[in-house]
Amino acid sequence: MTRVFQYLLLCCALLPYATPSLAEWHYEKQAIMGTEVSVQLWHEDSQQAEQLIDQVMAEFRRLDDELSPFKPTSELSRVNREAAKGPVKISAELTALIDKSLWYSDLTGGAFDISFATLGKHYDFRNKQRADEQLTESLLEALNYRHLHLDKNTHTLRFGHEKTKIDLGGIAKGYAVDRAVAILKAAGVCCASVSAGGDSRMIGDKRGRPWLVGIRHPRDKSKNAAVIPLTDTAISTSGDYERYFIDDSNTRVHHIFNPATGKPADTTAGSSDKLISVSIIGPRGFDTDPLSTSVFVLGKEKGLALIDRLPGFEAVVIDSNRRLYFSRGLDNPQSANANP
Ligand code: ADP
Ligand code: MG
Repeated sequence: MTRVFQYLLLCCALLPYATPSLAEWHYEKQAIMGTEVSVQLWHEDSQQAEQLIDQVMAEFRRLDDELSPFKPTSELSRVNREAAKGPVKISAELTALIDKSLWYSDLTGGAFDISFATLGKHYDFRNKQRADEQLTESLLEALNYRHLHLDKNTHTLRFGHEKTKIDLGGIAKGYAVDRAVAILKAAGVCCASVSAGGDSRMIGDKRGRPWLVGIRHPRDKSKNAAVIPLTDTAISTSGDYERYFIDDSNTRVHHIFNPATGKPADTTAGSSDKLISVSIIGPRGFDTDPLSTSVFVLGKEKGLALIDRLPGFEAVVIDSNRRLYFSRGLDNPQSANANP
């Protein structure tokens, strides 16, 4: 082989690697955790981008397998079956999720309470089924986060009431979104957006411009009530329009429970304190997710007061009269595009 030919061969062999690769956006959507999980990221290598997306989706599926109340094999289901009989050994991850949940229960005077499931498990929104008055009354005592005895040192959980059940639907998706972001950040991704239903988190910006996050109009799927420009932050939205049915007396029976009554938080129009949509902006989904559920239950006055007390968090809420309100740091926002 001549030297020239050898050189040409070498060039050909290197060609695919030597071609300057084009950075571009990569997208993927999958149905996981009972919702739509979507990932959008900027990457110069398509293959690596695909691998990262696979890794992220696998993490969402792992968390669904561990935390789903509908999968009998999940760690959560095991706890619900066994923890009333005595302390159950749980993973460090489940310990952290329950510990955080209990912290928010204390902070919100019990508005956030993962033991809502004691009654919540008797609701089936698709089939328009709910707990009747008698069942609600008989289980209300068992619905109380104070029955959850978590030992952070030994990683055990015990239920102090035989009827108590838990569900992490108000915090698990925010946590999962944070885990996804950690995977992407560790791989050096500069710009990405990950969302699981109403919980989203962004890395960086959208290549020089902020991400524009729409807050859905709570009564008209085709419209946004507001569009918020955001950079490198998390946002979680809770609404009475995600999972619900309208009963015979025209009441909206939805999936966010007021632990004080054991029933869905009242969102009947008329009172300006009742909220129908709550979005919380803050650094991590692990906090914005439980906070959006909490503020929804607390109502406008107490809910906004809570967010105004917490440094680093902001809120955009819509009351039952469809008016839009902001926490103090966003008041009169130049950029929020209200369209209620
Ligand atoms: P999603 O993103 O599923 O719409 P939200 O953040 O709006 O979730 O929270 C609603 C979910 O939180 C419910 O589907 C339920 O699993 C759980 N949940 C409902 N009420 C409470 C409550 N008072 N405290 C904690 N979790 C709750
Ligand atoms: Mg939430």
